[in-house]
Amino acid sequence: MTASIPCLSTIDEMRAAVDEAHARGASIGLVATMGALHEGHLSLIRAARAENDLVVVSIFVNPAQFDEKDDLRRYPRVLEDDSRLSAEAGADLVFSPPVGEMYPEGFATWVQVEELTEGMCGRSRPRHFRGVCTVVMKLFHICSPDRAYFGEKDAQQLAVITRMVRDLDMRVTIVPCPTVREPDGLAMSSRNRRLNPEERAEAPVLYRALTAARDRVQAGERDAAVLKSAIRSVLSEVPTAEIDYIEIVRAHDLSSVATLSGTCLIALAVRIGRTRLIDNIRVRA
Ligand code: AMP
Repeated sequence: MTASIPCLSTIDEMRAAVDEAHARGASIGLVATMGALHEGHLSLIRAARAENDLVVVSIFVNPAQFDEKDDLRRYPRVLEDDSRLSAEAGADLVFSPPVGEMYPEGFATWVQVEELTEGMCGRSRPRHFRGVCTVVMKLFHICSPDRAYFGEKDAQQLAVITRMVRDLDMRVTIVPCPTVREPDGLAMSSRNRRLNPEERAEAPVLYRALTAARDRVQAGERDAAVLKSAIRSVLSEVPTAEIDYIEIVRAHDLSSVATLSGTCLIALAVRIGRTRLIDNIRVRA
């Protein structure tokens, strides 16, 4: 039997569902996505199912977080499959508003987290996190979640949203969830669908580079420059891979480190063909 759940498209309908849940004392878990769901998303939905009475999955390809028109146009949209997969993973409701519902005529208010958004992905995508924070803030206001689930795959996004919630005294608990990978190590991502077979075969080089660096840390290496050069050397196995950034940062504030100490993130953004992929790994030095 194929599971089926309501798919709401207006803020009013979503608010009515939230009010009804609150009236019966139900807790709400939110998984915010842009759709084209894969096992990474489904792991977040399952985590939300285990901890909340009502599980909401939002599916919204947020134009405000795309810096490239072409990337937005090519983003996969498969709402019917996504609804079915959400239901099978245990969600109760899908919220999938049209763009005009989220950004009505005259929309002019933005949420901007400073500093944390300046490096890494923020450098090549200057308006990206403003778009992410604004839509996540709106989804939190619309869905009133007690808990919201975010993947460590998007480590900078997780850090930025955690800071926004703290700075603006929002009553939601952010729950980080581990990165889900393909058997060959490639971090699952909706953008992986765009890789052609040759590019798909090359893409696991990101994870190979990260694990090579992690092995060096575990063997005692603490010099970020040495680790970055080890990463560059693994990435060079794929001549068409174009490096956007290689960063080694403190996990809690994303500040760059020259010498590793405490918990750090090693993070990469690499273009394979026309597709930009990101990944990261956490190390303890
Ligand atoms: P997206 O649809 O790409 O905006 O992602 C929605 C949520 O799923 C974000 O919190 C992501 O961090 C999370 N996510 C995406 N890919 C993965 C993955 N491979 N493992 C765990 N979480 C993921």
